[in-house]
Amino acid sequence: MAKLGKYALMGNEMIETSEAKVSVASSAVLYGLSVYSVFFGKHTSDGILCFRIPEHMKRLKESAKMIGLSNIEEELAKDLDIERIKELIRINQPTTDQFFRVTVHATELVPGVRTSNLELTTSVFMYDAVNILPQDKARLKTSLWRRTADTAIPARAKVNGAYVNSALAKQEAIDCGYDDCLFLNQNGYVSELSAANVFMVKRGELITPDCASDILEGITRRSIIEIAKKLDIGISERKVALTEVYTADEVFACGTSAFVSPIIDIDGRQINAGQPGPVTTKLRQLLLEAQSDASSNWTTLL
Ligand code: PMP
Repeated sequence: MAKLGKYALMGNEMIETSEAKVSVASSAVLYGLSVYSVFFGKHTSDGILCFRIPEHMKRLKESAKMIGLSNIEEELAKDLDIERIKELIRINQPTTDQFFRVTVHATELVPGVRTSNLELTTSVFMYDAVNILPQDKARLKTSLWRRTADTAIPARAKVNGAYVNSALAKQEAIDCGYDDCLFLNQNGYVSELSAANVFMVKRGELITPDCASDILEGITRRSIIEIAKKLDIGISERKVALTEVYTADEVFACGTSAFVSPIIDIDGRQINAGQPGPVTTKLRQLLLEAQSDASSNWTTLL
C-alpha cells in the first residue's frame, strides 16, 4: 500500500487524509460519479517538480464535460488552487517522489442517476510514487473483459466508476500470474492496459492505438509521441491488431504511474527475446529526464 501524505485538501479545507470523506448518500459513492487525474512530482532539494499540471487540469475539465458535470468550471475556480497544493506539500513534507490525485466528486446527496447541476467538491491527496508496473520486464495477458466502449462509458473521460472495468481486467491478469492486462475494444482491436497506454516498435516505427480505439488519451502517451518526434522516429496512431503486437520488435506501456514500462511477454509470446529494447530504453530515459528538468515548460516547481 502506497504511503499517503498525512494531510489532504477537501474543498477549501486542509484536513487529515483519514478525515477527507464523501457521504454514502452522494452520487460519487452511489454511481461512481467523480472524475480525476493523477500527476507526478519529482522530489528535489528545491521542492517538488510537477509534470504537466496544465494538461492534467485540462483533461480533468474535459472528463467532467464529457459526462455532463455542468458546474465544473465554477467548482475548479473555487476549490482548485495551485498555491493550496504548494501548502499541502509544505505541510506533508514528502521525502520521496510523489503522485498527486486530484478528484472532483459529485457530492450531491441522492439526486438519482443524472449528472447535471450537481454539487461538486474537489479533493487532492498525495502519496509516495510507487510504480504500478515492473520497470524492466512486465508481462501482460489479453483480457477476457473488453474495454468499455466510447458509446457506453467513454474511456477518454477519467471517471471513477469506469475503473470497475480496469479492476476486473487487472485482477484477472494477476490471478493468471501476469503483471497487467491488455484490453481489446469491442471491435477486437488493441486498446490499452488497466491504467496505462501501449506502444509497439515495428520496423523502426512507433505505433500506438489511435484515439478512437477506446483509450484514455494519456498525457505520458502524448509526451512520448512528442519526444519521439524530436528523435525523428516515425509515429503512427492507428488501429492495432493483437497479432501485430505479438510479433512487434518492442512493446512498452506508459502512464503517470507506469512511467515507461518495457513489456517482454504477452500471453506467453516473448517480445524482443525477453529484454527491454533499445527504443523503449531510450524513450524511458528521456521521459525520466524530462520529469527532472526544472527548466522545461513541462514542469512546475511547487
Ligand atoms: N489509460 C488509463 C486507463 C489510465 O488510467 C491511465 C493513467 N492515468 C493512462 C492510460 C495513462 O494516462 P496518463 O499518462 O495521463 O497518466
